[in-house]
Formats: sequence, C-alpha cells, structure tokens
Amino acid sequence: MESAFTIGIEDIFLFRNFAPTLIRRFENFDSMDALIVDDILQDFVFGKLKSNRAAGIIPSTKRLISVARRARVPVIYVCDAHLSSDLEIKWWGTHAMKGSAGARVVEALKPKKNDYVLEKRVYSSFYETGLDLLLRDLGISSVVIVGLYTDICVRHSAADAFYRGYKIIIPKDCVESLAEGENDYGLEYLRKIYNAKITTSKELIRNWNKRLGN
Ligand SMILES: [Zn+2]
Repeated sequence: MESAFTIGIEDIFLFRNFAPTLIRRFENFDSMDALIVDDILQDFVFGKLKSNRAAGIIPSTKRLISVARRARVPVIYVCDAHLSSDLEIKWWGTHAMKGSAGARVVEALKPKKNDYVLEKRVYSSFYETGLDLLLRDLGISSVVIVGLYTDICVRHSAADAFYRGYKIIIPKDCVESLAEGENDYGLEYLRKIYNAKITTSKELIRNWNKRLGN
C-alpha cells in the first residue's frame, strides 16, 4: 500500500524549483528584491525612438543601480534585441536591432560584470527571455522595474510579474513615457491594476542602504 508520505518524482522536481528560494530566504529573509532595467538603450534615449523625457531618468537610475549592486540586489537588464521579422517592427519601425549600436544600454548605465543581461523581442521582459527562471533561481519575490516606457514595456513586464505572483515596485523617477500624460496614466494603471507600489529611488536607496548598515 502506498504511504501518504511517499515522495514521487514530481516532489523532487518541485523541491528543485523552490529550493533556491528557500535557501535565499533563510540566508537573508528581507533581501528578495531584484532590479529590472528595461530598455534604457541608445535608440530610446538618443536614437530612433528618442524622447527628451527619457534622458531625465538616467541620473536617478544610475544611483539606484549602484546602491543595488552594493546591497547585493541582483541587477537584471532586459533589452530589446529585435529581428527584422518581429511584429513590433511593423508598428514602431526598426529600433534596437539585435547587435546594433542602438540596442546598447546607454553608456552611463552600462552593465557590469555581476549584472545579468537578457534579450527580449516584445514589450514584456518576461516573454521568452528566461527572466522568470532567473528570478526563481535567485529566490526573488519582488521586482523593482525601471526604464522605458512606463505605459508600454514597463507595463507589460509588470503584467507578467503580477501573473507570476511577484510584488511590483516602481520608483517613479526611474520610469518615463513619451508624454507626461502617458507617464501619469501609466503609473496610475500600474498601481490600480497590478497593485504596484509607486515609490521613489530615494526611498529604495534608503531601504537598501539599511541592509548595508548605512
Ligand atoms: Zn521594441
């Protein structure tokens, strides 16, 4: 007769999936944020899809990324790397094409050695990028999303984060849209529909610095 405590192959796979999360929680139970940096690329700031508003988020995002690195909050860049056949290209024209200069992260925010860099081909940072697997392996439960644009890629990334049960945090001085109204509406949508916590980079830096004992 099968015992109620028989461990099946499914249980082993389940444990394998969740073990890193548990281990990280035991190591440091309040260190479960990851910082996701969406599309702060040459083409979005200086190139084909440029907007004067985009450059405004670079200084605050730079400070946030640098404290995240020190506080051991994983920094994960998820960047457009389009192929000419991508559906998005029909709507927006060619931008951030894989391997091109326009698809590079802007110089001021260049990824460093221990950061993660993933490529995407649609708005969402989760869609066929391996981001969810990476977050699970790192034991992450909440995602801080920054970048461009609030009502497009940030919004679609937030939707996918929400569906997967991640808590969503948006520092409003590190996201932007092509117009002020779109940014305001984008932020309100994130708060209302995905229960995103809208905060500031200063507030997050204060929290992460606390972990460093500063
Ligand atoms: Zn794109």
